[in-house]
Amino acid sequence: MTDLAIYAVSANNSRGRVIPEAAPAGRSEFQRDRDRIIHSSAFRRLEYKTQVFVNHEGDLFRTRLTHSLEVAQIGRSIARNLRLNEDLVEAISLAHDLGHTPFGHAGQDALNDCMKEHGGFEHNLQSLRVVDVLEERYAAFDGLNLCHETREGILKHVAKKNIARLGDLGERFLQHRRPSLEAQLANFSDEIAYNNHDVDDGLRSGLITLEQMESVSIFSRHLGQVRNQHPKLTQRRMVYETVRSMINTLVTDLIQHSTTNIQRAGLDGLAAVHAAPPLIGFSQEIKSEQQELKKFLYDNLYRHYRVVRMNNKARHTIEHLFQAFTTEVRLLPTEYQHKFRQEGHQAIADYIAGMTDRYAIKEYQRLFAIAES
Ligand code: MG
Repeated sequence: MTDLAIYAVSANNSRGRVIPEAAPAGRSEFQRDRDRIIHSSAFRRLEYKTQVFVNHEGDLFRTRLTHSLEVAQIGRSIARNLRLNEDLVEAISLAHDLGHTPFGHAGQDALNDCMKEHGGFEHNLQSLRVVDVLEERYAAFDGLNLCHETREGILKHVAKKNIARLGDLGERFLQHRRPSLEAQLANFSDEIAYNNHDVDDGLRSGLITLEQMESVSIFSRHLGQVRNQHPKLTQRRMVYETVRSMINTLVTDLIQHSTTNIQRAGLDGLAAVHAAPPLIGFSQEIKSEQQELKKFLYDNLYRHYRVVRMNNKARHTIEHLFQAFTTEVRLLPTEYQHKFRQEGHQAIADYIAGMTDRYAIKEYQRLFAIAES
C-alpha cells in the first residue's frame, strides 16, 4: 500500500508488537495480524455464535462469522476511499467480536451479572483477552501477539475500573485520546452492518413486517425509490434492494462526512489523529435517521416476545452453567480446573464465553439432563 494518507496507520508509525518479531515477508504487518485472526480457534467458533437469533433458529440468519465478514467488507471499501490502512481495518473488523459469549447480548449480560463479584465481564475486553492470552497456538507467546494498533481497535470501550490493568492500551482512555481512524472506521462499519442485517433478518423471520418498517424514515425513503424503479419486484427482492441501497447511502455519507472532518482538522500525521475529536462519522441527517432505526429495532425486534423468550433461555443456561461450575469446580474440564486455581472465576468466564450457542446448550444437557440426549 503505497498511497496511504499521512494520517493513516502504517508499518512505519506502528507501535509494534509486545514481543518483537522480524518483519513479515510478502505481506504487511497488518495482513499478518489478519491471517493470525483468521487461523484462530475463536474465529472459527464465530460461525456458531449469534447476535439476535440463536444459531439453530435457521440457516439464513447472520452468525457472528458472516457479520464479521460483512463488517470487514464495508470497512475495507471505506478505508480505500479515505486512503486509510485497509489491512488494519480488515484485521480489527474480523477480530472485533472474538470475545462474545454464546447467545449474543443476552449471554453477555448474563455472564456480566454472574461475574459481578469477580470484576464483571466485558465483551470488548474479552476480545482483547482472546488475542492477547487465550489463543494457545504459537511457540513463542500466548495469544496472537498482534500489533498495538490492531489491539487498540479491538478495545473499543472499557470500564474505568479495568483501565489500570491494560498498560499502554489503557493510556488513551485516561488521556481521552482517540484511537486511529482505522479503529474509528471499523466501529462504524460494525454499526452499518448490524443495523442493516438486523432489518433483513428481522423481516425474514417475520418478527417485523414491511408495513412496520415503512414507519422508519431511512427505510421508507429507500423502499420508495426501489418501488418507483422496479414496481413489479417480489417482496423478498424489494427488501434486498432496499437494504442494499441503504448500505450504499450510509457508506457514501460516511465517506463524504469523514472526508470533510479530516480536511477541516488539517491532520499532519497519526499523532494529530489521537489528539483530534472523533473524525469518522455520519452527517447529522443520517445520524438522526440511524438513531430512529435503532430505536425501532430495539422496540420491535430486540424486545419482540420471541426474542425475549430466546434471551430468557440464554440467561437461564449461562446462569446455571456458571453456578454449577462455581459450586463444584470439578465439573469443569481438567484444563479449566488448573486455570481456575490460577485465575479464579475468570477461568469459568473464559470457558463459558468461549462456547458456541450449541456447545452451551449441549453442556447444559450434559450437566443437568438425566437421560443422555
Ligand atoms: Mg459487531
